[in-house]
Amino acid sequence: MTPRQELIVKNVDNVKQLILDAERWIWAHPEVGYTEWQTQGYLIERFEALGYTLTRADQDPNFGKIPGFYTDADTGVPGPCLCIMAELDALDIANHPESVNGMTHCCGHHGQVSALLGIAAALKEPGAMDGLCGKIRLMAVPAEEMIQLEYREELRKQGVIKYNGGKPEFMRRGYFDGVDMAILVHGTNSGKDIDFTGTKGSNGCIAKVITYRGKSSHAGGAPHLGINAQYAAMLGLQACNDLRETLQEKDSIRFHPIMKGVNCAVNIIPDEMKIESYVRGATMEGMLRENKKFNRALAGGAAAMGATVEVVDRPGYAPRYYYMPMLKEFEQACIDLVGEKRVKIDTNAWQTGSSDVGDVTMIMPAVQVYAGGARGTGHGTDYYVDDPERLCVNAAKVQLFMVDRMLGNGAETGKKIIEGYKPPYPSKEAYFEAISEADMEKQLVEYCEDGTIRISLK
Ligand SMILES: [Zn+2]
Ligand SMILES: [Zn+2]
Repeated sequence: MTPRQELIVKNVDNVKQLILDAERWIWAHPEVGYTEWQTQGYLIERFEALGYTLTRADQDPNFGKIPGFYTDADTGVPGPCLCIMAELDALDIANHPESVNGMTHCCGHHGQVSALLGIAAALKEPGAMDGLCGKIRLMAVPAEEMIQLEYREELRKQGVIKYNGGKPEFMRRGYFDGVDMAILVHGTNSGKDIDFTGTKGSNGCIAKVITYRGKSSHAGGAPHLGINAQYAAMLGLQACNDLRETLQEKDSIRFHPIMKGVNCAVNIIPDEMKIESYVRGATMEGMLRENKKFNRALAGGAAAMGATVEVVDRPGYAPRYYYMPMLKEFEQACIDLVGEKRVKIDTNAWQTGSSDVGDVTMIMPAVQVYAGGARGTGHGTDYYVDDPERLCVNAAKVQLFMVDRMLGNGAETGKKIIEGYKPPYPSKEAYFEAISEADMEKQLVEYCEDGTIRISLK
């Protein structure tokens, strides 16, 4: 370790209790996307106590109120801006033994924000900013998990948000303006022998809310007067499942619908069935193509039963395309902290989950790696943070190692990364324009007076 790295380790160790306390408190107060008010309250109090001035998303006069904030730690020396992101949200998973109001941090995001708080505190320790240039933007972002799609749709309709994901919403609001590079460390279960893992990227996604509508009637006395929306939904999903053999490995498509249940008694023919799903894939083109096929299948189920189906498609997340030279730098930062044997960055591996870090990778060099210390399955009822020293404290240290690599030494390496990176889209506006192709709100099946049934997909 260099003397700079030794200082970083010491500075983070000095504020370790702050990190560990935050991990426990936020674990006990899980909140899903765009409702993380207690969590942000906890953080705001501590960031302000450290002397930071925050730009808060709930105090922006130009946009609706959502949780989340950022602040810049400025070295006072001109140079690039590196953003350290952390996600505020938990998940609905009522059967987790430690769920609170049906929610748990079973993706470990509470560990990220705890690390971010530790980074903020460590940057205030003596000598922490010496030898650096540029700025470090510390960002607490809401709503990474693409869930509760109906609720998000409501927020959209009210004009509070435009995007389901917190990062594209923050991009839209200009909170990433002036940022040159971005990093995030996510918790994971990597076993006891590995501290940091990583891949070359992951699938993106389109978010879908599907509503089948039929007609209610007495299920025993007069089923002939009803149109069973549940059965129509089941047929639509059956057709989607039968399409799976037409999917190609190269597109890495995932389709995982959940039926949201009926809101009537057992002796009533259900007149409505809602489904939420994503279509995930490795490229925007692949996702759009296969999404159209799934919509056709969903429409077929409705037409078979005489029901209707309304589909609301929204841009989800872009695929994550990490910038390889930056990932290499991150790998080295991990190795410097814990040694080569405890780091496993596989630049050939592709993840099939999605994250709105993907949206960030569309306009700037950005990387996400994973810190071990959890046990059980991510998004599972057996997920716990076993070792917050590894998941949170190590995450704080390694991200400050990255700060040192990117912004130390006159930002020589950071500038190389920024200059070498060729963004898939020249600007956020161009990116948003491109993903608007996934936007659709439509009744797919129409029954015409002349007896024809019209299915339209666009
Ligand atoms: Zn997750
Ligand atoms: Zn996550």
